[in-house]
Amino acid sequence: MAQFLEIKAAHPGCLLFYRMGDFYELFFDDAITAAEALGIVLTKRGKHMGEDIPMCGVPVIRADEYLQRLIAAGLRVAVCEQMEDPAAARKRGSKAVVHRDVVRLVTPGTLTEDSLLDARARNYLTAVFAGPGPGGGAAAGGRRGDAAQIALASLDISTGELEVGEVARADFAGEIVRLGSGEVIASDVVLADADIAKGVALGRCATTPVPAATFDSLAGERQLKAQLGVADLAAFGTFSRRELAAVGALLKYVELTQIGRRPCLRPPRRTGNSDRMLIDAATRASLELTRSTSGDRKPSLLAAIDRTITGPGSRELAARLASPLRDVPAINARLDALAFLHDEERLREDLRRTLRHTPDLARAMSRLALQRGGPRDLGAIRDSLAAARGCVELLRTASGGLGLPGTLSGIAERLGPGDTSLQPMLARALVDAPPHLKRDGSFVREGYSVELDAARTLRDDGRKVMAALEARYVQDTGIKSLKVRHNNILGYYVEVPAGAARPLAAAPLNETFRHRQTMAGAMRFTTQELIETEGRIVSAAERALTLEQDIFAELAAAVAAQERALGEVAGALAEVDCEAALAEVAVREGYTRPVLDDSADFQIVGGRHPVVEQALRSLEGGAQFIENDCVLGDGPPDGGSMGSASAYAGAQDLTPSRLWLVTGPNMAGKSTFLRQNALIVVLAQMGAFVPARSARIGIVDRLFSRVGAADDLARGRSTFMVEMVETAGILNQATDRSLVILDEIGRGTATYDGLSIAWAVVEYLHEVSRCRTLFATHYHELTALAGRLAEVASVTMEVREWKDEIVFLHKVKPGAADRSYGIQVAKLAGLPAAVTKRAGEVLKLLEKTGGKPATGAALIEDLPLFAAAIASPRLRGEGQGEGHTEAAPSPLGEALAAINPDELTPKEALNVLYRLKELCRRNGE
Ligand code: ADP
Ligand code: MG
Repeated sequence: MAQFLEIKAAHPGCLLFYRMGDFYELFFDDAITAAEALGIVLTKRGKHMGEDIPMCGVPVIRADEYLQRLIAAGLRVAVCEQMEDPAAARKRGSKAVVHRDVVRLVTPGTLTEDSLLDARARNYLTAVFAGPGPGGGAAAGGRRGDAAQIALASLDISTGELEVGEVARADFAGEIVRLGSGEVIASDVVLADADIAKGVALGRCATTPVPAATFDSLAGERQLKAQLGVADLAAFGTFSRRELAAVGALLKYVELTQIGRRPCLRPPRRTGNSDRMLIDAATRASLELTRSTSGDRKPSLLAAIDRTITGPGSRELAARLASPLRDVPAINARLDALAFLHDEERLREDLRRTLRHTPDLARAMSRLALQRGGPRDLGAIRDSLAAARGCVELLRTASGGLGLPGTLSGIAERLGPGDTSLQPMLARALVDAPPHLKRDGSFVREGYSVELDAARTLRDDGRKVMAALEARYVQDTGIKSLKVRHNNILGYYVEVPAGAARPLAAAPLNETFRHRQTMAGAMRFTTQELIETEGRIVSAAERALTLEQDIFAELAAAVAAQERALGEVAGALAEVDCEAALAEVAVREGYTRPVLDDSADFQIVGGRHPVVEQALRSLEGGAQFIENDCVLGDGPPDGGSMGSASAYAGAQDLTPSRLWLVTGPNMAGKSTFLRQNALIVVLAQMGAFVPARSARIGIVDRLFSRVGAADDLARGRSTFMVEMVETAGILNQATDRSLVILDEIGRGTATYDGLSIAWAVVEYLHEVSRCRTLFATHYHELTALAGRLAEVASVTMEVREWKDEIVFLHKVKPGAADRSYGIQVAKLAGLPAAVTKRAGEVLKLLEKTGGKPATGAALIEDLPLFAAAIASPRLRGEGQGEGHTEAAPSPLGEALAAINPDELTPKEALNVLYRLKELCRRNGE
């Protein structure tokens, strides 16, 4: 117990997994916490200071599964192993304690096991530094600088991917959501910072406070150089002191959790603000880029376009989607590769077939580097290299006459590993399907090592000798049921049924057979020959095992020597998969290559919503998505640069303007239209084809999307407040290169407030921000602005009325909606006929008053009371309300009349519904 307490004290804040034989045991409070989190039995073991010690345990072979659940529950675990064979400890004396030590801390951001990780998602550990700027060298990490810039250093320890960058304070939340960090480390002071806490909460990251002193830029620089084996970091970009401070804390924490073992580290990528499209956290959520608003993978843009075959390919795609580019040549380089694979169908299919069973090279390498790898990881490297060679050959053959686009020839180059002897060596050394653990051997192929083969032959011969021995003993003793058996405690022994054992205990056989054990129905004996043969088998088996471990170590060292080249191969394999998958989705879904330039134009012809389109198709009957154009920007539509046969000529007569006001009834397709244009921009700038007939897009620097009155009840903020905070963010940040999507802003407050705010926002965007904007609104009054502001145009979603019913055509056309058809939509939704008819009457009256809201008094004067109206046969819907013919005001009617929907919060609305149901129930009684 003294050993336990000492180790436990050295790792505060962690559950201690204390290895005892085949179990990890947990004691004291750890046991109570773990038993509750895992739903396992809590027991007791011994006493400490007179009290029972609570205990629980998990079997070592199922530890991964339990670890996963503890990590998911936000806990951290220190894994403490036996560092020697218990037999070795016994040799020191009967009371000697087996030497134990913590070999690793398991935290959400430092996972490496496939069973703990999502194959398709990156898992970043991110160090955040928000301190004073340049000059703030060693130990500057703690002070809460007013620094506008925040540095982030992120490492996926499972692949070695390293990303370093700085963002403005206002962009922090968007950055942390983009990174998708599993764990954020920072000093206490930084974690308490409101902006940082908000971002971390939005990113749903676990947080771990670390000492401010670890944010040491000099140490960071030194360690990064050492781990990359370079004298100068200049080749990877220029790093600020702040960034190096974050790197310092990151590497320190890795060292701490990995107990000195070094992960592989890929060269750092600097992610600057200026080369990426900035997308804040709310926009990411609202556009459902990589996750749906409910947090699932589906439905999202990523799920709709992800046709990758491998985990690394999927991670690459997700990373690109989260970080669209801003540099036209860089985007075009990706598009060139994609276009090539789009047209070369054979090549694309062959590449995808080659990738089909390709393992996760980066993760296998990382486990080997951290000495957590097994034979299967070596096998993964062997198979990945074979696949890489296959891809290189395919690309070389395809390059034929025309040559490959630059990106693809670069990929082909990186796929050829520096040292070509590694793959054949692994192929010769390993069996076809190597086991997960190296402990039990049996992974080295026969014929690889003469010595190993000899030891194995000896071991197997020994087993044959045992079988021969058994046959001889049966003959010598005449006991047909005699067997030679083996177990872990006795080793080899002779067993005979109790009834047949007597001759062995008597002369002359008792000279050969010595009694060892009496069981319920059997007796066990040993012989000198048995002991000797066993000795030979055991030593040969031990020798074989040792030799296999040595071979494992050699192979792992050969892999480590190739770390850099293998990292390139891993990256290139992921990129091929990603490019081929984007080409595949473009072919299958009919996407086209976008044209990008540095103008402020935005011309989408025949655009579609990639996610809704697929959802509609999978509906029963397969509904058709209606395509729509969108032309924003200053000048007239420039058909020439969109290709000679400008599809735009055939489209509706839409006016290109910087700001489009989109009106139309609910369900007409406004939100879908707005989002599809934002998604097309994301796809285009990540270097993918887009769901449109043609697209010409002037690079977007920042993308914003807001939905009015989005429910945020969970976090207890008034919806209107959220909406206004987010709108403020847009007005403060949007530039004349941004694209802004505002969907029904101002809905969360009373009508005239909302209209006034929406009005002022449109004016500001038009006059000050001068960004490209799509603004959907149900306030028709706003369309008056279209006439007054030069760069505002009105479009509307086409609807047809047919016998008081409404048909949505989902087609954008010039002009404004004349009215909102709310009553028709309500009818579609199944509101009782009595209610929609009554609403129709109220509407007529309101329209008579010229748009001014009639006072309650006026309403009462001009219209029969609702309760009376509902009772009149004229208004009663067919087949409804037959039982309520008396004209007395009903409590339900009064309650309904008292409701003012415009003033309800969503929560109140829900309460009202419950109250109405209750009234209704009482009425029925
Ligand atoms: P609004 O925002 O105007 O209330 P939505 O954009 O939410 O309308 O669209 C309502 C529904 O109409 C969507 O769920 C979708 O099924 C359908 N829809 C929208 N746009 C289209 C389209 N272009 N083609 C086909 N169906 C569409
Ligand atoms: Mg909508």
